Order: sequence, then structure tokens, then C-alpha cells
Amino acid sequence: METNLGYEDFPEIYEEGDHELECDECGKPFILNTSVSYSWETEKKDGDGNG
Ligand SMILES: [Zn+2]
Repeated sequence: METNLGYEDFPEIYEEGDHELECDECGKPFILNTSVSYSWETEKKDGDGNG
């Protein structure tokens, strides 16, 4: 999936399950299915205090 959205914008999409979102290109709603099968923590960057 190609998106400009980040965890800080829509943390809910990083939760497992279905999420209704709006396409940032055509404005149409779509369902995003997230399957959490790996750890996001491995991608966490250091350097800011936003915890
Ligand atoms: Zn679209």
C-alpha cells in the first residue's frame, strides 16, 4: 500500500483489523486491512522524545 500517512497521523491503522479510510488521491473510501504479523518496534527511530 502506498500512503503518506504515518503512525502519528493515524495510529489506528497500525492496529490489527479493518479500518475505513479515505483515499488521498481520489477521495474514495476504502477498507484497509491490517495484519499485525511483525513488530513495529523494530522500525522505531531514536532521536525524539515523543515516546
Ligand atoms: Zn484512490
